[in-house]
Amino acid sequence: MNKKKIIFGISVLLNFFVLILFVFRQKPVTDKKQFTVVCTTSIITDTVQRIGGNNIVVHGLMGPGIDPHLYRARESDMHKLAAADLIFYNGLHLEGKMSEVFASMGRYTKTVAVTDAIPKEQLLSSEFVDLYDPHVWHDVCMWMMVVQFIITSMSDADPDNALVYQGNGDQLLKELEALDKYVITKAQQVPASQRILVTAHDAFGYFGSRYGFEVLGLQGLSTDSQVGIKDIQQLTSFIVNKKVQVLFVESSMPHRNIQAVQHAVEARDWYVIIGQELFSDALGDLQTLAGSYAGMIKHNIDTIVAAITQHETR
Ligand SMILES: [Zn+2]
Repeated sequence: MNKKKIIFGISVLLNFFVLILFVFRQKPVTDKKQFTVVCTTSIITDTVQRIGGNNIVVHGLMGPGIDPHLYRARESDMHKLAAADLIFYNGLHLEGKMSEVFASMGRYTKTVAVTDAIPKEQLLSSEFVDLYDPHVWHDVCMWMMVVQFIITSMSDADPDNALVYQGNGDQLLKELEALDKYVITKAQQVPASQRILVTAHDAFGYFGSRYGFEVLGLQGLSTDSQVGIKDIQQLTSFIVNKKVQVLFVESSMPHRNIQAVQHAVEARDWYVIIGQELFSDALGDLQTLAGSYAGMIKHNIDTIVAAITQHETR
C-alpha cells in the first residue's frame, strides 16, 4: 500500500468521524420538542398565541361558539393536556365541569388559572359566598393584567424564550391600551340614561363597571341552570320599567330564551328588538373580526352602540 492510499484512507475515516460528531451534535436540537401550551377558552388561546408567536405550539380545547360553563373534557383533550408543558385555564369556576381535570393535571404539569392575576378585591362578587364573576376579559384593563401574568408564567416555564414572550406581550399590551380607549370613547356615544345592556346571561358585569353600563342577564353568571318563568317575568318587568329597546343574544348560547323574553315584553305592550349576536364567552370564527380577542371586544362595543343609538329616539 502506498503512502497516498494510507493518507486517503485516514482522511476518509476522519471525515466519517467528523460527520458522526456533527450528526450527534445536531441530534438534540432536531429532537427538541417545541414548548407546548394547552388553553381552555378561545379567548385565552388567542392571547397565549399572540404572546408565544411562532415559538410555541398552542392547543385550544374550546373552539368558536363553545360555552365554557358546560364544556366537558373529551378523551382527545386529556391526551393534549397530558402532553402539555403548561396549561392555562380561566378559573373562578368558568370551566365548571373541568375542575377535577385541573386538580389531577396540576400534580404533573404547571397549571395556571389566569384570573389569579387579578386581586380579589377587584373581582365582582356573585350571589354565592366566595364565588366571583369569572368574565374578567370584558374589561380590557383587567385583561391587560392577565396578559402580564401570562407573560410571566410562560417566561418562568420556558426561560429560553422569555425575551420573545416579553416583546410580543409588550406589543399586545400597547394594542390593548388603545382598544380600552376605543371602547371608552365609543361607549360615550350612548347617552348615560340609555346605557343598559340586557343579554342572555350575566357575562358583561366587568364591561358594565368599566364602561358605564347597567347590565342584566336572563341567566346568572353561569349558563348551568334552567331558565324559569320567574326569571323571564323579572327581566320583562325590568325591560318595561326601564323602557329598554334592545336585547342581545350571545354566540355561545341558544337564542330561544331571549326570544321568549321578547314575546313576554310584547304581551305587556312594550316592543323590544333583538340586536345582533354578541360574543360573550367564546370568540367567533377565525376568519371573522370576532376571531381575535381585540376583534371580539370591538365587535361587541360597535354592535351595542349601533343598536342602542339607532333606537334611542323612540
Ligand atoms: Zn359566561
